[in-house]
Amino acid sequence: MSQTRSTCPYCGVGCGVIIESEGGQIIGVRGDPQHPANFGKLCTKGSTLHLTATPAITRQTRLLQPMQRLRRGHAPVALGWDAALDRVAGEFGRIVREHGPDAVGFYISGQLLTEDYYVFNKLAKGLLGTNNVDTNSRLCMSSAVAGYKLTLGADAPPACYDDVNHAQCLFIVGSNAAYAHPILFRRIEAAKQKNPAMKIMVADPRRTDTAELADLYLPLLPGTDVMLFHGLLHVMLWEGWTDATYIAEHTYGFDELKSLVREATPDVVAQTCGIPKEDLFKAAQWFAQSPATLSLYCQGLNQSSSGTAKNATLINLHLATGQIGKPGAGPFSLTGQPNAMGGREVGGLANLLSAHRDLANPAHRAEVAALWGVADVPSKPGKTAVEMFQAAADGEIKALWIACTNPAQSMPDQATVRRAMQRAEFVVVQEAFATAATCDFADILLPATTWGEKEGTVTNSERRISRVLPAVPAAGEARHDWRIAVDVARRLEAQLRPGQPSLFPYETTEAIWNEHRESTRGRDLDITGLSYAMLETEGPQFWPLRQGDRTGKPRLYEDGVFPTADGKAKFAALPYQSTAEPSESHFPFSLTTGRLRDHWHGMTRTGTLGRLFGHVAEPCVQLNPRDMERRGLKDGELVHVTSKRGAIVLPAQASHTIQPTQAFIAMHWGPEYLSGRSSQGEPLAGVNALTTSAYCPTSKQPELKHAAVKILKA
Ligand code: SF4
Repeated sequence: MSQTRSTCPYCGVGCGVIIESEGGQIIGVRGDPQHPANFGKLCTKGSTLHLTATPAITRQTRLLQPMQRLRRGHAPVALGWDAALDRVAGEFGRIVREHGPDAVGFYISGQLLTEDYYVFNKLAKGLLGTNNVDTNSRLCMSSAVAGYKLTLGADAPPACYDDVNHAQCLFIVGSNAAYAHPILFRRIEAAKQKNPAMKIMVADPRRTDTAELADLYLPLLPGTDVMLFHGLLHVMLWEGWTDATYIAEHTYGFDELKSLVREATPDVVAQTCGIPKEDLFKAAQWFAQSPATLSLYCQGLNQSSSGTAKNATLINLHLATGQIGKPGAGPFSLTGQPNAMGGREVGGLANLLSAHRDLANPAHRAEVAALWGVADVPSKPGKTAVEMFQAAADGEIKALWIACTNPAQSMPDQATVRRAMQRAEFVVVQEAFATAATCDFADILLPATTWGEKEGTVTNSERRISRVLPAVPAAGEARHDWRIAVDVARRLEAQLRPGQPSLFPYETTEAIWNEHRESTRGRDLDITGLSYAMLETEGPQFWPLRQGDRTGKPRLYEDGVFPTADGKAKFAALPYQSTAEPSESHFPFSLTTGRLRDHWHGMTRTGTLGRLFGHVAEPCVQLNPRDMERRGLKDGELVHVTSKRGAIVLPAQASHTIQPTQAFIAMHWGPEYLSGRSSQGEPLAGVNALTTSAYCPTSKQPELKHAAVKILKA
């Protein structure tokens, strides 16, 4: 039996695993006791990974050879790799020649490895000359990126997991870590057990399992986070709990913020957020007066039409109280996906460039062009996720290349997303799983390798980079994501820059890694001192880790100097705004979405195991018992849940975790489990038949956490 050190492919905790294999088959998995993210522990999803990779399952779920669809709506037929790659390069080259580079779009994934991401980004921005490369991380953490950059000057979570052990006050907001980041939550439980004096506050519209651990639970109304944060600062100012020395020495912009939060009186906050005034006072006191306060937050803040404001106004509290840059303190954004951080690092989003460089900065564009050996990098921002599918639905984008993500289930406003893929002239889907709903829209299907087969690196929520290693050969004819992108890029080079040396000379992931790490030289995330050999011999490492450094930095801004022009952090005076689609008389319920404990994204992997349905067996809409009674509903009775965009039918379930006039549906259920219709009658599936594509104007992250719906007995 062989044992291979790698990582779990699910959430942003980034646990280390040891994969056991024999005869080219994965036969077991266990937590890596030496990995600093989990010290050997795994949650239900991680500990069952090997069972999702048995031949009996992969025969039914994996895409095992390239396929093409000769007519839309018909079954795809097999073709060879060369023919498939020629066709992709031919169609992308033709569309770029006929309509310009912005007529193509790449929609990629926070589940790709950093090396995969790097090649896709260079292919779009360096070779084709379009910034139309965005990722499902736009749906996950782009508001966190925007919030950090706006206030602290760089997209860098300043804290680490070990800070949980040093915090005296934990403020968990917009995060059901018990389900979404289970092994980090185990760490929180252990810290509380060891230090019962540590205060835990949870702010969330739902009384989740995470909230059950709280000393103070703040059941704020959906979308009112900014008002809560302003109210906390108002109380801190009134009570003299802010840190005037820290504010004076390390920040600017406080006077403007002070004027703004003057209006956020306890009465206004209590009414807007739906929380008692005394709890607001208690929360302000614990946050400000604790020796060390750590905030942990996730999609409740990010997936919002005011996502940037929510992130930035929470960071305001840390700056105003000096709760940053010391053990146990800081604003710590949790990433949903395993490598959303890696994508941010290589600049794999429509508005970013490599190594935290900005598209809008001519010097940064020139640096990247020089690194890549191209004349320039386009300055026009690319289309972000929602914009990209809207542009395809409008006929502006004519070719889509979708890799390692399932927009036919996961994007909001499914009717528009499906119209986009139907209208596009050419759709490439690069996928490990033939069962992903998006495969139905592909003209070409390219089989990709997945967990246990792939090689490269990932970065978890705490900026720690781990090595990912293959334990078994690729299934069927599947190829690595980076390899597929390189092979198409070389064919495109033959059309677009014949006779010139290739921009994609890579034959190994290490060659890509070495180019990526060189691109970080002198940047805030400089990893010029980090090699594959170091990751393999010394284990996962934090960034930055500069040439000559022996270790990375677990905690940032300990010297109070921020990566801004004058070294000071900026307070963000951003006003509270309600959700994009407030509930009203025709759509009186506030629908929110979220994760289940034992499933991941669209269930292409977790949905193959019966045991992972033991916790929750089928889709349902959870409602407050009073709303159930008022509508004469019993548990299990079918209801229509309808928004302005579509409707689904599913059983209702009473739950005391939900407040009156609110509703909750898990995000995972796809076409096999939860069918529906658009408002025009087109067949749709899952909760995203209902959700809105309204997005934050700064981060462009859509408001997946809130839609107004009506609920009627079926
Ligand atoms: Fe995997 Fe996340 Fe569970 Fe760790 S906590 S085993 S990374 S799903």
